[in-house]
Amino acid sequence: MALDPDTFAALIETVRRYVAERLRPLEAQVEADDAVPEAVVAEMRAMGLFGLSIAEDYGGLGLTMAEEARVAIEMGRTTPAFRSTFGTNVGIGSQGLVLAGTPEQKAQWLPGIASGEIITSFALTEPAVGSDSGAVTARAVRDGDVYRLSGTKRYITNADRADLFTVMARTGEESGGRGVSAFLVPRDLAGVSIGEPERKMGQKGARVADVHLDAVAVPVANRLGAEGEGFKIAMRVLDRGRLHIAAVCVGVAERLIADCVAYAGERRQFGKPIAEHQLIQAMIADSKTEALAARALVLATAAAKDAGDDVVLESAAAKYFASEMVGRVADRAVQIYGGAGYIADYGIERLYRDVRLFRLYEGTSQIQQLIIARETLKRGG
Ligand SMILES: Cc1cc2nc3c(=O)[nH]c(=O)nc-3n(C[C@H](O)[C@H](O)[C@H](O)COP(=O)(O)OP(=O)(O)OC[C@H]3O[C@@H](n4cnc5c(N)ncnc54)[C@H](O)[C@@H]3O)c2cc1C
Repeated sequence: MALDPDTFAALIETVRRYVAERLRPLEAQVEADDAVPEAVVAEMRAMGLFGLSIAEDYGGLGLTMAEEARVAIEMGRTTPAFRSTFGTNVGIGSQGLVLAGTPEQKAQWLPGIASGEIITSFALTEPAVGSDSGAVTARAVRDGDVYRLSGTKRYITNADRADLFTVMARTGEESGGRGVSAFLVPRDLAGVSIGEPERKMGQKGARVADVHLDAVAVPVANRLGAEGEGFKIAMRVLDRGRLHIAAVCVGVAERLIADCVAYAGERRQFGKPIAEHQLIQAMIADSKTEALAARALVLATAAAKDAGDDVVLESAAAKYFASEMVGRVADRAVQIYGGAGYIADYGIERLYRDVRLFRLYEGTSQIQQLIIARETLKRGG
């Protein structure tokens, strides 16, 4: 259910000010420490950000997809690690439970997820299983009241902080996604261990690590949906996650454009601000046009999703277009800043590295293209 317009406007204003006044000054520190300060995590909990998308009955804010996208755009205006802090709880870490959980499972976990007391992660990728995610090899073998889960999950966002994982593992002999089931796996079960955080190109502060499962006894009551439904659940979770990521890309692009406008107004060459040179204006115009197009696509798709439409195609298109768009905007930003764009103190090179990830995770651009083409062919145009 949508918030009343005044309450929602106040939330957006609060997030906007929080990003501008509290988070942006911390960007260099997060980059250097590869960590979001615990004080910020606590503030985000108090603001309700961990429960944006979770129903009010479970203590969340119960935002619609269109509202969540607006918040994600605002959060995009700062270093992506801040959004990632609560992003798994709002998206891929909680939505399997929201979409396929029983009332008992929801009552057990969702209030803690909404408050941020429980941090969640989504564990689909494996060392040899990436884009072809239906090929998961982690195994879940039924043994009375438990399944014994074994395998390794790779590049799992927030794994080192997570209390609860949604893990996709194979329960049947069927090939591809049909033999895959989804499980809620608490971190504290015996046999769960977490690897060292990876060293990454960007998005410092949003850490990823391996999750090792060694015959972990997961209660049957922790299975999400029926046996064999796990891959379908994971794909539905990712459809939604893609729209959220696309919204973040819009926010980053809008921030970069604002930074470029400010810099181009101050920096003078050939006796005038570089903003008065038409070749600089051309770059600003291209970035602005593309960011507006992405914003329109994201918000229209979110509204269609809220109306109950099938938006598999549109979500993939939004993620594909917005993630490629922000890559081009970041590249132009480096160009507009000139040498300063390459120097760490200005923060542009950091965002340039940060945005590269958006074309890779939750389905690469190539996978989005395949989805868009498949759905377009299915729809007949
Ligand atoms: C920082 C980070 C965070 C992540 N967080 C998570 C997480 O929280 N949970 C999780 O489960 N996973 C996570 N991932 C994993 C991520 O979703 C995968 O890396 C991504 O899906 C791509 O898989 P891959 O890396 O194995 O690449 P591959 O699948 O090996 O792809 C390599 C290249 O081949 C292309 N390719 C593959 N198949 C095709 C095809 N059929 N047609 C054309 N081209 C193709 C790809 O587009 C790509 O260009 C994360 C990854 C990173 C880097």
